Amino acid sequence: AGPAESGWRKPRVGHFIGGDWTDSASGRSYPKRSPWSGETLSEVAAGDAEDADRAVAAAHAAFDGWAAALPHERQLVFLRAADVLERREEEMLGALAAETGCGRVFGGVQLAFAVRLLRQAAQLAYRPAGELLPSDVAGTTAMAVRRPVGVVAAIAPWNASLTLAGRAIIGPLALGNTVVLKPSEDSPYTGGALWAEVLHEAGLPAGALNVVTHAPGEAGGIGDAMLANPLVKRINFTGSTATGRRLAEQAGRHLKRLVLQLSGQNPLIVAADADLDYAVDAAVYGAFIHQGQVCMCARRVYVERPLAEEFAGRFAARAAALPTGDPSDPATVVGPVINEWALALIDRRVREAVGLGARVLAGGVPSPPCYPATVLADVPDEAEIAHGETFGPVVVLETVDSAEEAVARANTSDLGLVASVITGDRPRGLRLAAALEVGIVHVNDQPVNDEPHMPFGGVKDTGWGRFGLGFAAEEFCELQWITVRDQ
Ligand code: ADP
Repeated sequence: AGPAESGWRKPRVGHFIGGDWTDSASGRSYPKRSPWSGETLSEVAAGDAEDADRAVAAAHAAFDGWAAALPHERQLVFLRAADVLERREEEMLGALAAETGCGRVFGGVQLAFAVRLLRQAAQLAYRPAGELLPSDVAGTTAMAVRRPVGVVAAIAPWNASLTLAGRAIIGPLALGNTVVLKPSEDSPYTGGALWAEVLHEAGLPAGALNVVTHAPGEAGGIGDAMLANPLVKRINFTGSTATGRRLAEQAGRHLKRLVLQLSGQNPLIVAADADLDYAVDAAVYGAFIHQGQVCMCARRVYVERPLAEEFAGRFAARAAALPTGDPSDPATVVGPVINEWALALIDRRVREAVGLGARVLAGGVPSPPCYPATVLADVPDEAEIAHGETFGPVVVLETVDSAEEAVARANTSDLGLVASVITGDRPRGLRLAAALEVGIVHVNDQPVNDEPHMPFGGVKDTGWGRFGLGFAAEEFCELQWITVRDQ
């Protein structure tokens, strides 16, 4: 490992509360290091429950004003913020590479998503806030009116830091809510403070967005404070199924509604009539983009028998040849894994699979701080990597006798985020899509796909609810039924 070439540094990352940058009430901070070079990038405010409660109070105080802002005022904030992000593109790509090891390709994907998210959020300001309904009571006008819920807490992960924090805050804000964002300790700037900077510059009123950062291992205290605080009306969470389950258990006690976007174990199915070149491209991108650290990445590739051998050979050769290393080098495809614990976990799971009889077709040996693109075959079902989400560039390859068998195999998973089906037969693709127990299916596309207005989310243990601006009103508004009778 060498120094992070981008040279991006942000010496201090504080909390953003009520429109001001502040230190933690405790005065504590922690060093955020580059996953590539290990150098300290930022000294980050190490917040706790007290800071979270201050942020919630600031969001609550700002709510009436932001909820009552004219559509035109809200629209302008999001349009200006999109311009700010575009202007700062190079700096943002440097920040994403330095802070999260994100290469230029996926960094570009994240920025493009964030800009579109903001421009589409600007349109939400002029969407109807409710509907008129017919009534069986004579002389009555009946309405269902959508109102913002109040303070929304957003708990976001480090992996697609810019995009996922954006998705967690922009929909709720556009609908008139105020927000407290808790980024991951691994992305305090690109998944947190950056959004505060951009929206503040764009004119978002003080207190509408607040950001509270924290040291590694201390997320729980802030999460607990958000759950217990009666001023927080909704929590949206993107992260692991294990953490989501903990939050849901506590949320029951507080009767707090959650939106949960959790783990995936995503199948990519290659039918015998698929275009082989395309299928290999889709699998390489879908499995290895951002080192496989995207919830949508393909974890299992099922290939129908007639194509299986040829596919395995080409796919493994492409995986083995992917340039691996410094994320700020434009040639790099596989950058560093986010931290040493993540690297150790990937290594342990691959070793376990190999110990149980799996064959390594590519990769399989860590080269810290990177883990190479890895293709495994003959992985027995009892290996953890065959069913649990492993956040890294490792994919399990299986031969099947039919795409229908692949669907049945895929559906044995407890997780149900996204699936891809590659086939020359579109009607068959649609039939397979209907049979897959997942929230999202792409026929003839790779799985790492997101658009700000689409209903993003999963079924089974992948969570509850949907992100996506067109659907956010169902999660982040209350419906109020009002009737008015003629005198
Ligand atoms: P990932 O594998 O994506 O890091 P995590 O579930 O560990 O998944 O983290 C996702 C987010 O959840 C991060 O912001 C992390 O700090 C936060 N988090 C972790 N543990 C808790 C907790 N007990 N309460 C609230 N948030 C938590």
